[in-house]
Amino acid sequence: MVESFEQRFATYCGVGHCVGVSSGTDALRFALMAAGVARGDTVITVSNTFIATAEAICQAGAAPAFVDVDARTLTLDPEQLRHFLESACTRDPYTGRRVTRQSWSPVSAIVPVHLFGQMANMDEILAIAAEHDLFVIEDACQAHGAAYFSDRRQQWCMAGAMGDAAAFSFYPGKNLGGCGEAGAITTNNARVADRCRMLRNHGQSRKYVHDVEGYNGRLDAIQAGILDVKLPHLSTWNERRRNVAARYDAAFADHPLIVGPHTAGRSAPVFHLYVVRVPQRESVQMRLADAGIETGIHYPIPLHRTAAYAHAGFPAGDLAVTEEAAAQILSLPIFPTLSQDDQAHVIERVLEAVGTAPLEFA
Ligand SMILES: *Cc1c(COP(=O)(O)O)cnc(C)c1O
Repeated sequence: MVESFEQRFATYCGVGHCVGVSSGTDALRFALMAAGVARGDTVITVSNTFIATAEAICQAGAAPAFVDVDARTLTLDPEQLRHFLESACTRDPYTGRRVTRQSWSPVSAIVPVHLFGQMANMDEILAIAAEHDLFVIEDACQAHGAAYFSDRRQQWCMAGAMGDAAAFSFYPGKNLGGCGEAGAITTNNARVADRCRMLRNHGQSRKYVHDVEGYNGRLDAIQAGILDVKLPHLSTWNERRRNVAARYDAAFADHPLIVGPHTAGRSAPVFHLYVVRVPQRESVQMRLADAGIETGIHYPIPLHRTAAYAHAGFPAGDLAVTEEAAAQILSLPIFPTLSQDDQAHVIERVLEAVGTAPLEFA
């Protein structure tokens, strides 16, 4: 059952290999380790993501370095990435590798996050990675089915098919979800896939032959079976999410205070979340809650501001775009079965809650 799902998901993503694992977090950790991230390395990612992105980096033995995001897409900003590599890093004259100036730690990988179902600017990121000899592990945990038109390859590429490897989560709330914890790695690199297979199963190459120390990180057959049944519906569900997003877009297009999500022309997002920016977010959220409409904030505290990553060395104010967005973002209800009537009600209440007074952004 696991192999059947792995094969179908690999085909869906347009990659050579899929390795089912027990969560998206394990998928990220195994992908980083299998690609070659070593203890003491630095791995670059963003701060506005679910904490699992940074956990996986640390648990693979590396330290996270956070760079700022593009103000419109809220995904890794290639300019900021380049700036970090050029100003916060230098070249080790002995190894020839990029190392951080602060701790002389080799920078070995980048983890772009396809946040909210919107793909990061992969052409630029992959070009910078190639220049500096860095692995790229996509965090595609929110982007099952998202696509990106690559100018370099002159074709549409699926999330999970562009980096050295990618991590997916099938947590029940994701665009494709199991009935419990599940995840997968996708890659075109057979060696990376083989190493992930070993890592998920106690480092075994054959039964009781342990080549490396591994983990208990297998994908349960029952989850694989459920995912196999659900996968054929994913495109339809994503299409419905896009329709919901298009209706929100139309409703807020001319509003002076609500800033909708930006979709780059070369991107086909799958709207895991529909995130707007509004002034006085807390009061808007409270008014919506009073009207029985649940909203979310993804995420209220950027990782560099959490206690867990205070030691990472990115003080408050370091990531201006990330920090400003964190105070304004609000995730509105979106799911494939959201009816037009219910959505119309949500829109009406959002417009009411935000008002039209030219208030300052909080
Ligand atoms: C859900 C998620 C993860 C982690 O996946 P789990 O299956 O919960 O371990 C990692 N990164 C992002 C961006 C996510 O949304």
